[in-house]
Amino acid sequence: AAAVIDTDVVVIGAGPAGLYAAFQLGLQELDTHVVDSLPHAGGQCAELYPDKPIYDVPGLPAVSGRELTQRLLQQLRPLAVPLHLGQVVAHLQADGVDAPSAPGRWRLRTAGELQFAARAVVIAAGVGAFLPRRLAVPGLQAWEGTQVHYDDPPPQSWLDRHVVVTGGGEAAVRLALRLAEAGAARVTLLHRTDRFAIEAALDEQLQSAIGAGWIRLCLGQPIGALAGEDGSLQALEIATERDERLSLPLDLLLPRLGLHPRLGPIADWGLALERKHLLVDPLTLQTSHSGIHAIGDVVHYPGKRKLIVCAFHEATLAAFAIAERLRGGPVPLEYTTTSPRLLALLRGA
Ligand code: FAD
Repeated sequence: AAAVIDTDVVVIGAGPAGLYAAFQLGLQELDTHVVDSLPHAGGQCAELYPDKPIYDVPGLPAVSGRELTQRLLQQLRPLAVPLHLGQVVAHLQADGVDAPSAPGRWRLRTAGELQFAARAVVIAAGVGAFLPRRLAVPGLQAWEGTQVHYDDPPPQSWLDRHVVVTGGGEAAVRLALRLAEAGAARVTLLHRTDRFAIEAALDEQLQSAIGAGWIRLCLGQPIGALAGEDGSLQALEIATERDERLSLPLDLLLPRLGLHPRLGPIADWGLALERKHLLVDPLTLQTSHSGIHAIGDVVHYPGKRKLIVCAFHEATLAAFAIAERLRGGPVPLEYTTTSPRLLALLRGA
């Protein structure tokens, strides 16, 4: 089994709330690790509106979701906080005693088998973990990880194979083009219609790949999975637009149907919830369990507003509360402009 990462704090979520919490925890000199299910930081800002300007972040009259993420990462850099991306935190459980004088540890485990032992946890999970939308075909799950891949398939596994990519957006089309170039024997793009939600330039590339025979288009809805005698996935059963049935043989199936956020495991950790939000004390952002704090869009308290500026405030209060609890006493306020300690941290002196 992989080694357990022993740390002061694990932050679940690398959206604006989680990134800023990591910064504030770093200023408190607490060892912090950040985990996010997405392959990149930024949460909703990066995933849902990377190019849209945000106009209400203090001091930044207009900043795109992508640029805000980059700036938060840049601000965090001197504190060298490790980011574990592409990892869903699936389990959280108490480990050891939990009293104010001797805070216990929390065990966290990701679906990818990363393990942490932390003295405090900050849940900054927003609207939930962004996970790939599953293809709703009965029985298909049995081949996940072998012939059906929602993340990148093992390198070279598509060589000389017939690969079916399904989806109608940029991710599906780009993957199909990439595989056709990289040496898959046959690439089929499966979609309901021949219209794709992509930019004109990409559509042109797709049309010429179809014209050249590098990519074959299959129009229809997958409704069933057919197993071979050896138990492997042999074909998809497809319902066409005219409601005919056809069988699409394949070696590898790569559904790219977009991502959707799921609160998922967090709802099962025994924390008090109100309409799918974690109930917290607005002074400390602590949840119903001591040592577990929550901030940003995932929380509820009287007067909560789901805004980035409010998430930054919550991150700051949570970091102070965690530092006070772990040190067992009050933590003085220091300014980054004048505190020699903070300046040394931020300037790497
Ligand atoms: P998120 O940004 O949702 O990030 C949460 C992260 O946690 C995600 O990356 C997710 O993958 C990860 N995560 C969740 N569960 C797990 C798990 N179990 N394991 C691992 N990772 C997990 N706000 C403003 O202030 N001003 C605006 O102008 C503005 N415009 C917006 C426009 C749009 C279209 C949208 C959708 C939102 C807008 N918002 C705006 C709201 C703002 O984006 C949110 O308030 C903010 O993103 C909340 O940050 P967060 O870090 O709490 O959550």
